[in-house]
Amino acid sequence: MIPQEVIEEVQQRADIVEVISRYVTLKKAGRNWKGLCPFHPDKNPSFVVSPEKQLFHCFGCGAGGNVFTFLMRYEKISFYEALKTLADSYGIELPSRPTGGRREHLFEINSLASEFFHRTLLSPREGRRAREYLLGRGIEPSLWEDYLLGFAPEGWDSLVRHLREKGVKMEDAEALGLVLQGREGSWYDRFRSRIIFPIRDLRGRVIGFGGRIIGKGEPKYLNSPETELYRKGNSLYGIFAAKDYIIKEGKAILVEGYFDLLTLAQRGVREAVATLGTALTSQQLRLIRRLGGKKGVLLFDGDDAGRKAALRAVESAAEEGFYVEVVLLPPGEDPDTYFRQHPPGEALQEAREGIE
Ligand SMILES: [Zn+2]
Repeated sequence: MIPQEVIEEVQQRADIVEVISRYVTLKKAGRNWKGLCPFHPDKNPSFVVSPEKQLFHCFGCGAGGNVFTFLMRYEKISFYEALKTLADSYGIELPSRPTGGRREHLFEINSLASEFFHRTLLSPREGRRAREYLLGRGIEPSLWEDYLLGFAPEGWDSLVRHLREKGVKMEDAEALGLVLQGREGSWYDRFRSRIIFPIRDLRGRVIGFGGRIIGKGEPKYLNSPETELYRKGNSLYGIFAAKDYIIKEGKAILVEGYFDLLTLAQRGVREAVATLGTALTSQQLRLIRRLGGKKGVLLFDGDDAGRKAALRAVESAAEEGFYVEVVLLPPGEDPDTYFRQHPPGEALQEAREGIE
């Protein structure tokens, strides 16, 4: 959001010795400057500032970084606030923050997060386990792109740090359910060590996220909480990628989960969308209707929960005057497991006959 040149200009003008001297008494020691560390109880000066490297380091507690890091830690402020403080004191003008309403700003933050997760999935080292996991479930790279799949790395603050570098206020990221604040006041990532499924609206804007744990951990699936942008029952996962196919086919296939949908898409059924565990709502049906879809095919597990969900779905569809066909899969199967074994065309036919 803030051009790199501006950040570099501020960094060049704001000499680290000069800035830190405002907070800590520094004495010249050879090529460096030394003082008592402000970040731990320090009796011998173990805090060193290097004018050549423009870095500080404490040999007592290990604190270290550049002029921005120092201000962020000392004043407990965000990267953007540190940049602004320094820019102001050196008379450098920052480009005004993106104009537009709050919603646009929040969409922009979601998009930054989703790009970050996607890049992490593709990064050779950090994304390896996630890529292996997806391939193991039969989901191939072309779908990673179509559905903007991502990976939230294992650390506690990877996204926090990334968003801060981009000048995002943590309070805004918190409002989007991306970060949480601990009791000590520090921020941490909500999604850690998870495959990320960005949930997009009809226009392709990211409104929320789902995450599937890789390895051990609970819960297995974690979604964004309800936010200013994301209302669970108002959206369908995959609607943006399926849009053109729904328009072409005049119908949508409705499934429950992320992998149900991805497995179908991988087998060439591209008009599929997922309800994400909610009962089918009239808002969701309206989304399909806005694309000219007149019919829904509901694919549910053949167990009791699946049957009940299917019944409720048929009821709300009827209220909306929407035609739905229900396909119950054999007990013990969900679309993900089932369609990994059976070609969808034939299987949809068989399953349908099974009910009649
Ligand atoms: Zn220290």
